[in-house]
Amino acid sequence: MTQRTLSLFNSLTRSLETFEPIHPGEARVYTCGPTVYNYQHVGNMRAYIFADTLGRALRWAGYDLTHVVNITDVGHLTSDADAGDDKMEKAAAKAGKSAWDIAAHYQQVFEDDLARLNVRKPQHPKATDYVEAMIEWGKSIEEKHCYRLESGLYFDVSTVPDYGRLARAVTDEGEGRIETVEGKRNAADFAIWRTTPSGETRQMEWDSPWGRGAPGWHIECSVMSAELLGHPFDIHTGGIDHREIHHPNEIAQNQAHNCSEKSGANIWMHNNFLVDRRSGELGKMSKSSGEFLTLQALVDRGFHPLAYRLLCLQAHYRSELEFTWDGLGAALTRLKRMVMAAERLKEDGAGSPEHPKFAPLREKFAVAVSDDLNTPIALVALEEALAVKKVDGSVKRAVVEEMDAVLGLELFALSRTDLRLRPASAELREEEIEAQLVRRREARAAKDFATSDAIRAELAGKGVEVMDGDPLGWEWAL
Ligand code: AMP
Ligand code: ZN
Repeated sequence: MTQRTLSLFNSLTRSLETFEPIHPGEARVYTCGPTVYNYQHVGNMRAYIFADTLGRALRWAGYDLTHVVNITDVGHLTSDADAGDDKMEKAAAKAGKSAWDIAAHYQQVFEDDLARLNVRKPQHPKATDYVEAMIEWGKSIEEKHCYRLESGLYFDVSTVPDYGRLARAVTDEGEGRIETVEGKRNAADFAIWRTTPSGETRQMEWDSPWGRGAPGWHIECSVMSAELLGHPFDIHTGGIDHREIHHPNEIAQNQAHNCSEKSGANIWMHNNFLVDRRSGELGKMSKSSGEFLTLQALVDRGFHPLAYRLLCLQAHYRSELEFTWDGLGAALTRLKRMVMAAERLKEDGAGSPEHPKFAPLREKFAVAVSDDLNTPIALVALEEALAVKKVDGSVKRAVVEEMDAVLGLELFALSRTDLRLRPASAELREEEIEAQLVRRREARAAKDFATSDAIRAELAGKGVEVMDGDPLGWEWAL
Protein backbone atom coordinates (compact mmCIF):
# COMPACT_ATOMS: atom_id res chain seq x y z
CA MET A 1 0.00 0.00 0.00
CA THR A 2 1.21 3.47 -0.75
CA GLN A 3 1.51 5.72 2.25
CA ARG A 4 0.06 9.14 2.77
CA THR A 5 2.39 11.92 3.79
CA LEU A 6 2.21 13.13 7.39
CA SER A 7 3.81 16.30 8.56
CA LEU A 8 4.49 16.28 12.31
CA PHE A 9 5.90 18.85 14.71
CA ASN A 10 9.19 17.68 16.15
CA SER A 11 9.95 19.27 19.52
CA LEU A 12 13.65 18.52 19.01
CA THR A 13 13.92 20.84 16.01
CA ARG A 14 10.85 22.91 16.88
CA SER A 15 9.67 22.49 13.31
CA LEU A 16 7.34 20.47 11.10
CA GLU A 17 8.92 17.40 9.57
CA THR A 18 7.69 14.83 7.10
CA PHE A 19 7.31 11.46 8.76
CA GLU A 20 9.86 9.03 7.31
CA PRO A 21 9.61 5.60 8.90
CA ILE A 22 12.80 3.88 9.99
CA HIS A 23 11.42 0.48 8.98
CA PRO A 24 9.52 0.69 5.68
CA GLY A 25 5.77 0.47 6.16
CA GLU A 26 6.01 0.55 9.95
CA ALA A 27 5.52 3.16 12.62
CA ARG A 28 6.88 2.54 16.12
CA VAL A 29 5.62 4.87 18.82
CA TYR A 30 6.44 5.15 22.52
CA THR A 31 4.26 7.16 24.89
CA CYS A 32 5.17 7.85 28.50
CA GLY A 33 2.46 6.26 30.57
CA PRO A 34 0.99 6.92 33.98
CA THR A 35 2.48 6.51 37.41
CA VAL A 36 -0.12 4.21 38.90
CA TYR A 37 -0.25 5.55 42.43
CA ASN A 38 -3.54 7.41 42.05
CA TYR A 39 -6.34 8.11 39.59
CA GLN A 40 -5.38 9.82 36.37
CA HIS A 41 -7.12 13.16 35.85
CA VAL A 42 -8.69 14.20 32.58
CA GLY A 43 -5.59 16.31 31.83
CA ASN A 44 -3.53 13.13 31.80
CA MET A 45 -6.13 11.53 29.56
CA ARG A 46 -5.58 14.30 27.03
CA ALA A 47 -2.04 12.95 26.60
CA TYR A 48 -3.35 9.47 25.76
CA ILE A 49 -6.13 10.73 23.49
CA PHE A 50 -3.47 12.67 21.60
CA ALA A 51 -1.16 9.63 21.34
CA ASP A 52 -4.09 7.48 20.21
CA THR A 53 -5.06 10.01 17.56
CA LEU A 54 -1.47 10.02 16.33
CA GLY A 55 -1.52 6.23 16.19
CA ARG A 56 -4.80 6.23 14.30
CA ALA A 57 -3.46 8.83 11.86
CA LEU A 58 -0.39 6.68 11.23
CA ARG A 59 -2.62 3.68 10.48
CA TRP A 60 -4.83 5.80 8.24
CA ALA A 61 -1.63 6.91 6.46
CA GLY A 62 -0.90 3.26 5.73
CA TYR A 63 1.60 2.20 8.40
CA ASP A 64 1.61 -0.87 10.61
CA LEU A 65 1.60 0.57 14.10
CA THR A 66 3.45 -0.69 17.15
CA HIS A 67 2.49 1.46 20.11
CA VAL A 68 3.86 1.17 23.64
CA VAL A 69 2.44 3.03 26.64
CA ASN A 70 4.43 2.03 29.71
CA ILE A 71 3.07 1.65 33.21
CA THR A 72 5.23 3.26 35.89
CA ASP A 73 4.70 1.05 38.90
CA VAL A 74 7.99 1.89 40.58
CA GLY A 75 10.54 4.66 40.71
CA HIS A 76 8.71 7.95 40.23
CA LEU A 77 9.43 10.45 42.99
CA THR A 78 7.10 13.30 43.89
CA SER A 79 9.33 15.63 41.84
CA ASP A 80 10.24 14.76 38.25
CA ALA A 81 13.76 15.95 39.04
CA ASP A 82 14.32 13.03 41.36
CA ALA A 83 13.68 14.56 44.69
CA GLY A 84 11.07 13.91 47.33
CA ASP A 85 9.39 10.66 48.25
CA ASP A 86 8.60 7.67 46.13
CA LYS A 87 5.04 8.15 44.81
CA MET A 88 4.17 4.45 44.90
CA GLU A 89 5.53 3.78 48.37
CA LYS A 90 3.93 6.92 49.75
CA ALA A 91 0.50 6.08 48.34
CA ALA A 92 0.79 2.52 49.64
CA ALA A 93 1.69 3.68 53.13
CA LYS A 94 -1.20 6.13 53.13
CA ALA A 95 -3.72 3.52 51.99
CA GLY A 96 -2.31 0.82 54.25
CA LYS A 97 -1.94 -1.46 51.23
CA SER A 98 0.99 -2.98 49.40
CA ALA A 99 2.58 -0.95 46.64
CA TRP A 100 1.90 -3.89 44.29
CA ASP A 101 -1.83 -3.79 45.08
CA ILE A 102 -1.96 -0.04 44.61
CA ALA A 103 -0.26 -0.37 41.23
CA ALA A 104 -2.55 -3.16 40.04
CA HIS A 105 -5.65 -1.25 41.09
CA TYR A 106 -4.79 2.04 39.41
CA GLN A 107 -3.48 0.32 36.29
CA GLN A 108 -6.88 -1.34 35.92
CA VAL A 109 -8.72 1.96 36.40
CA PHE A 110 -6.40 3.55 33.82
CA GLU A 111 -7.04 0.83 31.25
CA ASP A 112 -10.78 1.02 31.83
CA ASP A 113 -10.68 4.79 31.30
CA LEU A 114 -8.73 4.38 28.07
CA ALA A 115 -11.34 1.90 26.84
CA ARG A 116 -14.16 4.31 27.69
CA LEU A 117 -12.36 6.98 25.66
CA ASN A 118 -12.09 4.54 22.76
CA VAL A 119 -8.31 4.59 22.89
CA ARG A 120 -7.03 1.60 20.90
CA LYS A 121 -5.26 -0.85 23.15
CA PRO A 122 -1.49 -0.34 23.02
CA GLN A 123 1.12 -2.55 24.71
CA HIS A 124 1.34 -1.76 28.42
CA PRO A 125 4.70 -3.00 29.75
CA LYS A 126 5.26 -2.52 33.47
CA ALA A 127 8.46 -1.00 34.82
CA THR A 128 8.75 -3.71 37.49
CA ASP A 129 9.10 -6.33 34.73
CA TYR A 130 12.16 -4.56 33.34
CA VAL A 131 14.26 -3.94 36.44
CA GLU A 132 16.94 -6.47 35.42
CA ALA A 133 17.27 -4.76 32.05
CA MET A 134 17.50 -1.38 33.80
CA ILE A 135 20.35 -2.70 35.97
CA GLU A 136 22.17 -3.95 32.86
CA TRP A 137 21.71 -0.56 31.23
CA GLY A 138 23.07 1.15 34.35
CA LYS A 139 26.13 -1.13 34.33
CA SER A 140 26.81 -0.26 30.69
CA ILE A 141 26.89 3.48 31.30
CA GLU A 142 28.26 3.55 34.84
CA GLU A 143 31.94 3.95 34.10
CA LYS A 144 31.78 6.79 31.61
CA HIS A 145 28.65 8.64 32.66
CA CYS A 146 27.74 8.00 36.29
CA TYR A 147 28.98 8.49 39.81
CA ARG A 148 27.98 7.03 43.11
CA LEU A 149 26.61 8.72 46.14
CA GLU A 150 25.34 7.10 49.28
CA SER A 151 21.81 7.44 47.96
CA GLY A 152 22.48 5.73 44.66
CA LEU A 153 23.95 5.89 41.20
CA TYR A 154 23.68 9.27 39.50
CA PHE A 155 23.94 10.31 35.88
CA ASP A 156 26.36 13.18 35.20
CA VAL A 157 24.62 15.26 32.54
CA SER A 158 27.86 17.00 31.58
CA THR A 159 29.14 13.75 30.03
CA VAL A 160 26.81 13.82 27.03
CA PRO A 161 26.74 16.37 24.23
CA ASP A 162 24.14 19.08 24.32
CA TYR A 163 22.25 17.98 27.42
CA GLY A 164 18.84 19.62 27.59
CA ARG A 165 18.64 20.57 23.92
CA LEU A 166 15.06 19.30 23.83
CA ALA A 167 14.08 21.67 26.63
CA ARG A 168 16.21 24.43 25.10
CA ALA A 169 17.36 25.17 28.62
CA VAL A 170 18.87 23.14 31.38
CA THR A 171 16.23 22.89 34.04
CA ASP A 172 17.37 23.11 37.59
CA GLU A 173 14.23 22.15 39.35
CA GLY A 174 15.44 20.61 42.53
CA GLU A 175 18.10 23.20 43.10
CA GLY A 176 17.33 25.18 46.19
CA ARG A 177 14.73 22.65 47.26
CA ILE A 178 15.19 20.98 50.58
CA GLU A 179 15.07 17.52 49.00
CA THR A 180 18.03 18.28 46.73
CA VAL A 181 20.46 15.43 46.90
CA GLU A 182 23.70 16.31 48.65
CA GLY A 183 26.76 15.77 46.49
CA LYS A 184 25.23 16.00 43.03
CA ARG A 185 27.76 17.39 40.54
CA ASN A 186 25.20 19.25 38.46
CA ALA A 187 21.75 20.32 39.54
CA ALA A 188 20.26 18.42 36.60
CA ASP A 189 21.99 15.12 37.46
CA PHE A 190 19.48 12.39 38.17
CA ALA A 191 19.29 8.94 39.72
CA ILE A 192 19.72 5.78 37.68
CA TRP A 193 19.48 3.73 40.86
CA ARG A 194 18.20 4.71 44.30
CA THR A 195 19.90 2.69 47.01
CA THR A 196 17.70 2.01 50.00
CA PRO A 197 19.15 3.84 53.02
CA SER A 198 20.67 1.44 55.53
CA GLY A 199 18.23 0.39 58.18
CA GLU A 200 15.23 0.97 55.89
CA THR A 201 13.37 -1.32 53.53
CA ARG A 202 11.24 -0.46 50.59
CA GLN A 203 8.26 -2.55 49.57
CA MET A 204 9.61 -2.65 46.06
CA GLU A 205 13.33 -3.26 46.00
CA TRP A 206 15.88 -5.32 44.11
CA ASP A 207 19.54 -6.25 44.46
CA SER A 208 21.96 -4.35 42.27
CA PRO A 209 25.67 -3.57 42.05
CA TRP A 210 24.78 -0.30 43.80
CA GLY A 211 23.09 -1.98 46.72
CA ARG A 212 19.53 -3.05 47.33
CA GLY A 213 17.12 -0.44 46.05
CA ALA A 214 14.91 0.67 43.18
CA PRO A 215 15.50 2.17 39.75
CA GLY A 216 15.22 5.87 39.02
CA TRP A 217 12.20 6.88 37.03
CA HIS A 218 13.78 8.06 33.75
CA ILE A 219 15.68 4.84 33.07
CA GLU A 220 12.55 2.75 32.55
CA CYS A 221 11.49 4.59 29.41
CA SER A 222 14.94 4.31 27.82
CA VAL A 223 15.02 0.60 28.58
CA MET A 224 11.46 -0.29 27.59
CA SER A 225 11.54 1.71 24.37
CA ALA A 226 14.85 0.04 23.39
CA GLU A 227 13.59 -3.44 24.28
CA LEU A 228 10.20 -3.17 22.63
CA LEU A 229 10.80 -0.83 19.70
CA GLY A 230 14.58 -0.84 19.16
CA HIS A 231 16.72 2.30 19.07
CA PRO A 232 16.30 4.49 17.19
CA PHE A 233 12.53 4.24 16.85
CA ASP A 234 10.12 6.59 15.12
CA ILE A 235 8.13 8.75 17.51
CA HIS A 236 8.23 9.44 21.24
CA THR A 237 5.30 11.29 22.83
CA GLY A 238 4.35 12.76 26.18
CA GLY A 239 2.87 15.82 27.81
CA ILE A 240 4.65 19.15 27.42
CA ASP A 241 6.02 18.97 30.98
CA HIS A 242 8.15 16.00 29.91
CA ARG A 243 9.96 18.20 27.41
CA GLU A 244 11.72 19.86 30.33
CA ILE A 245 13.14 17.10 32.52
CA HIS A 246 12.03 13.55 31.83
CA HIS A 247 12.68 13.47 28.09
CA PRO A 248 16.02 15.31 28.25
CA ASN A 249 17.05 12.68 30.82
CA GLU A 250 15.85 9.83 28.63
CA ILE A 251 17.82 11.33 25.76
CA ALA A 252 20.97 11.62 27.89
CA GLN A 253 20.68 7.96 28.91
CA ASN A 254 20.12 6.93 25.29
CA GLN A 255 23.13 8.89 24.12
CA ALA A 256 25.30 7.30 26.79
CA HIS A 257 24.08 3.76 26.21
CA ASN A 258 23.89 3.89 22.42
CA CYS A 259 27.27 5.73 22.17
CA SER A 260 25.59 8.18 19.83
CA GLU A 261 24.80 11.85 19.80
CA LYS A 262 21.32 10.99 18.57
CA SER A 263 18.36 11.14 20.90
CA GLY A 264 17.02 7.61 20.42
CA ALA A 265 13.83 8.61 18.59
CA ASN A 266 13.46 10.50 15.32
CA ILE A 267 10.54 12.66 16.36
CA TRP A 268 9.59 13.86 19.85
CA MET A 269 6.01 15.10 20.13
CA HIS A 270 4.36 16.83 23.07
CA ASN A 271 0.75 17.63 23.80
CA ASN A 272 -0.04 20.85 25.57
CA PHE A 273 -1.89 20.92 28.87
CA LEU A 274 -5.52 20.87 29.77
CA VAL A 275 -5.87 23.73 32.22
CA ASP A 276 -8.45 24.46 34.84
CA ARG A 277 -8.87 28.13 35.63
CA ARG A 278 -12.15 27.81 37.47
CA SER A 279 -10.56 28.27 40.84
CA GLY A 280 -9.01 31.49 39.56
CA GLU A 281 -5.74 29.65 39.48
CA LEU A 282 -3.82 29.66 36.30
CA GLY A 283 -1.86 26.54 36.04
CA LYS A 284 -1.85 22.90 35.31
CA MET A 285 -4.51 20.57 36.50
CA SER A 286 -2.63 18.53 38.99
CA LYS A 287 -3.46 15.32 40.72
CA SER A 288 -0.81 15.83 43.34
CA SER A 289 -2.42 18.99 44.69
CA GLY A 290 -5.72 17.82 46.06
CA GLU A 291 -9.00 17.83 44.12
CA PHE A 292 -8.84 16.80 40.52
CA LEU A 293 -11.20 15.70 37.78
CA THR A 294 -11.27 12.07 36.83
CA LEU A 295 -13.13 10.68 33.84
CA GLN A 296 -15.55 9.12 36.33
CA ALA A 297 -16.24 12.57 37.80
CA LEU A 298 -17.37 13.68 34.32
CA VAL A 299 -19.53 10.58 33.92
CA ASP A 300 -21.06 11.19 37.36
CA ARG A 301 -22.22 14.57 36.11
CA GLY A 302 -23.85 12.91 33.09
CA PHE A 303 -21.16 13.55 30.47
CA HIS A 304 -20.29 10.68 28.19
CA PRO A 305 -16.52 9.94 28.00
CA LEU A 306 -16.54 10.43 24.24
CA ALA A 307 -17.79 14.00 24.73
CA TYR A 308 -14.49 14.55 26.53
CA ARG A 309 -12.62 12.93 23.64
CA LEU A 310 -14.41 15.31 21.29
CA LEU A 311 -13.56 18.28 23.53
CA CYS A 312 -9.89 17.33 23.16
CA LEU A 313 -10.13 16.88 19.39
CA GLN A 314 -11.73 20.31 19.02
CA ALA A 315 -8.41 21.87 20.01
CA HIS A 316 -5.09 21.35 18.30
CA TYR A 317 -2.93 19.13 20.50
CA ARG A 318 -0.22 21.80 20.72
CA SER A 319 -2.62 24.42 22.07
CA GLU A 320 -3.54 24.76 25.68
CA LEU A 321 -7.11 23.65 26.27
CA GLU A 322 -9.22 25.15 28.99
CA PHE A 323 -11.61 22.91 30.85
CA THR A 324 -15.10 24.23 31.57
CA TRP A 325 -18.35 22.38 32.14
CA ASP A 326 -20.01 24.55 29.49
CA GLY A 327 -17.34 23.61 26.99
CA LEU A 328 -17.87 19.96 27.79
CA GLY A 329 -21.64 20.40 27.46
CA ALA A 330 -21.20 21.97 24.01
CA ALA A 331 -19.01 19.04 22.97
CA LEU A 332 -21.69 16.61 24.14
CA THR A 333 -24.35 18.44 22.10
CA ARG A 334 -22.10 18.36 19.05
CA LEU A 335 -21.48 14.65 19.50
CA LYS A 336 -25.22 14.03 19.78
CA ARG A 337 -25.80 15.77 16.45
CA MET A 338 -23.16 13.64 14.79
CA VAL A 339 -24.56 10.44 16.26
CA MET A 340 -28.08 11.40 15.11
CA ALA A 341 -26.83 11.97 11.58
CA ALA A 342 -24.91 8.68 11.67
CA GLU A 343 -27.95 6.80 13.01
CA ARG A 344 -29.75 7.55 9.76
CA LEU A 345 -27.01 5.67 7.90
CA LYS A 346 -26.95 2.61 10.11
CA GLU A 347 -29.17 0.55 7.82
CA ASP A 348 -26.96 1.23 4.84
CA GLY A 349 -24.56 -1.52 3.84
CA ALA A 350 -20.87 -1.21 3.18
CA GLY A 351 -19.99 0.95 0.22
CA SER A 352 -16.83 2.49 -1.12
CA PRO A 353 -15.80 6.01 -0.11
CA GLU A 354 -14.63 6.70 -3.67
CA HIS A 355 -17.27 9.04 -5.05
CA PRO A 356 -16.82 12.39 -6.82
CA LYS A 357 -19.27 14.07 -4.47
CA PHE A 358 -17.05 13.31 -1.48
CA ALA A 359 -13.68 13.86 -3.11
CA PRO A 360 -13.27 17.49 -1.93
CA LEU A 361 -14.24 16.60 1.65
CA ARG A 362 -11.94 13.59 1.78
CA GLU A 363 -9.22 15.88 0.47
CA LYS A 364 -9.99 18.51 3.11
CA PHE A 365 -9.86 15.81 5.77
CA ALA A 366 -6.59 14.40 4.45
CA VAL A 367 -4.94 17.82 4.33
CA ALA A 368 -6.01 18.52 7.91
CA VAL A 369 -4.80 15.21 9.36
CA SER A 370 -1.54 15.42 7.43
CA ASP A 371 -0.94 18.90 8.74
CA ASP A 372 0.33 17.91 12.19
CA LEU A 373 -3.01 16.34 13.18
CA ASN A 374 -5.28 19.30 12.68
CA THR A 375 -8.25 17.59 14.29
CA PRO A 376 -10.42 20.73 14.60
CA ILE A 377 -10.58 20.96 10.79
CA ALA A 378 -10.83 17.20 10.35
CA LEU A 379 -13.96 17.27 12.55
CA VAL A 380 -15.54 19.91 10.35
CA ALA A 381 -14.85 17.78 7.26
CA LEU A 382 -16.56 14.84 8.97
CA GLU A 383 -19.62 16.93 9.82
CA GLU A 384 -19.79 18.26 6.30
CA ALA A 385 -19.65 14.69 4.98
CA LEU A 386 -22.55 13.75 7.27
CA ALA A 387 -24.53 16.68 5.85
CA VAL A 388 -24.07 15.88 2.14
CA LYS A 389 -27.50 15.51 0.53
CA LYS A 390 -28.84 13.29 -2.24
CA VAL A 391 -26.19 10.65 -2.10
CA ASP A 392 -26.17 6.90 -1.68
CA GLY A 393 -26.17 6.17 2.07
CA SER A 394 -23.63 3.38 1.76
CA VAL A 395 -21.11 5.75 0.18
CA LYS A 396 -21.67 8.37 2.85
CA ARG A 397 -21.33 5.76 5.54
CA ALA A 398 -18.03 4.56 4.08
CA VAL A 399 -16.67 8.11 3.99
CA VAL A 400 -17.69 8.84 7.57
CA GLU A 401 -16.32 5.51 8.79
CA GLU A 402 -13.01 6.24 7.13
CA MET A 403 -12.81 9.61 8.89
CA ASP A 404 -14.01 8.31 12.23
CA ALA A 405 -11.31 5.64 12.15
CA VAL A 406 -8.89 8.53 12.72
CA LEU A 407 -10.98 10.53 15.18
CA GLY A 408 -12.25 7.58 17.19
CA LEU A 409 -15.71 8.87 18.13
CA GLU A 410 -17.38 5.50 17.46
CA LEU A 411 -20.20 7.22 15.60
CA PHE A 412 -21.70 4.00 14.27
CA ALA A 413 -21.49 2.09 17.51
CA LEU A 414 -23.15 4.77 19.61
CA SER A 415 -26.79 5.63 19.83
CA ARG A 416 -28.30 8.75 21.32
CA THR A 417 -29.61 6.72 24.22
CA ASP A 418 -26.01 5.66 24.98
CA LEU A 419 -25.11 9.33 25.27
CA ARG A 420 -27.88 10.02 27.77
CA LEU A 421 -26.02 9.20 30.98
CA ARG A 422 -27.86 9.50 34.25
CA PRO A 423 -26.10 11.99 36.51
CA ALA A 424 -25.22 10.45 39.87
CA SER A 425 -27.21 13.18 41.62
CA ALA A 426 -30.42 12.56 39.63
CA GLU A 427 -33.51 12.05 41.78
CA LEU A 428 -35.43 10.01 39.25
CA ARG A 429 -34.80 6.68 37.62
CA GLU A 430 -35.34 6.21 33.88
CA GLU A 431 -38.40 3.99 34.45
CA GLU A 432 -40.03 6.65 36.61
CA ILE A 433 -39.52 9.23 33.89
CA GLU A 434 -40.92 6.94 31.22
CA ALA A 435 -43.96 6.23 33.42
CA GLN A 436 -44.57 9.96 33.87
CA LEU A 437 -44.36 10.45 30.13
CA VAL A 438 -46.96 7.75 29.55
CA ARG A 439 -49.27 9.60 31.96
CA ARG A 440 -48.55 12.81 30.13
CA ARG A 441 -49.37 11.30 26.74
CA GLU A 442 -52.67 10.03 28.11
CA ALA A 443 -53.50 13.48 29.49
CA ARG A 444 -52.75 15.08 26.17
CA ALA A 445 -54.84 12.53 24.31
CA ALA A 446 -57.69 13.49 26.66
CA LYS A 447 -56.95 17.18 25.98
CA ASP A 448 -56.11 17.62 29.65
CA PHE A 449 -53.35 20.16 29.03
CA ALA A 450 -53.23 21.33 32.62
CA THR A 451 -52.07 17.87 33.77
CA SER A 452 -49.73 17.53 30.83
CA ASP A 453 -48.08 20.88 31.62
CA ALA A 454 -47.87 20.03 35.31
CA ILE A 455 -46.02 16.80 34.55
CA ARG A 456 -43.61 18.63 32.28
CA ALA A 457 -42.96 21.23 34.98
CA GLU A 458 -42.51 18.60 37.66
CA LEU A 459 -39.98 16.73 35.52
CA ALA A 460 -38.19 19.99 34.73
CA GLY A 461 -37.89 20.63 38.47
CA LYS A 462 -36.13 17.27 38.78
CA GLY A 463 -33.62 17.96 36.02
CA VAL A 464 -35.46 16.24 33.17
CA GLU A 465 -36.24 18.08 29.98
CA VAL A 466 -39.23 16.79 28.01
CA MET A 467 -38.74 17.00 24.25
CA ASP A 468 -41.95 16.78 22.23
CA GLY A 469 -41.51 15.61 18.68
CA ASP A 470 -38.11 14.08 19.39
CA PRO A 471 -37.94 10.28 19.21
CA LEU A 472 -35.77 10.23 22.32
CA GLY A 473 -38.59 11.95 24.25
CA TRP A 474 -36.55 13.43 27.09
CA GLU A 475 -33.04 14.38 28.19
CA TRP A 476 -31.24 15.05 31.43
CA ALA A 477 -30.65 18.78 31.88
CA LEU A 478 -26.92 18.88 32.67
P1 AMP B 1 1.94 11.33 35.05
O1 AMP B 1 1.04 10.20 35.49
O2 AMP B 1 1.99 12.45 36.01
O3 AMP B 1 3.32 10.83 34.68
O4 AMP B 1 1.32 11.96 33.72
C1 AMP B 1 0.86 11.18 32.64
C2 AMP B 1 0.87 11.99 31.36
O5 AMP B 1 -0.06 13.08 31.41
C3 AMP B 1 2.20 12.61 31.01
O6 AMP B 1 2.42 12.48 29.61
C4 AMP B 1 2.02 14.06 31.37
O7 AMP B 1 2.87 14.89 30.64
C5 AMP B 1 0.57 14.28 30.99
N1 AMP B 1 -0.11 15.39 31.67
C6 AMP B 1 -0.05 15.71 32.98
N2 AMP B 1 -0.87 16.74 33.26
C7 AMP B 1 -1.47 17.09 32.11
C8 AMP B 1 -2.45 18.10 31.74
N3 AMP B 1 -2.98 18.92 32.63
N4 AMP B 1 -2.82 18.17 30.44
C9 AMP B 1 -2.31 17.33 29.54
N5 AMP B 1 -1.41 16.37 29.80
C10 AMP B 1 -0.99 16.23 31.09
ZN1 ZN C 1 8.85 8.30 29.93
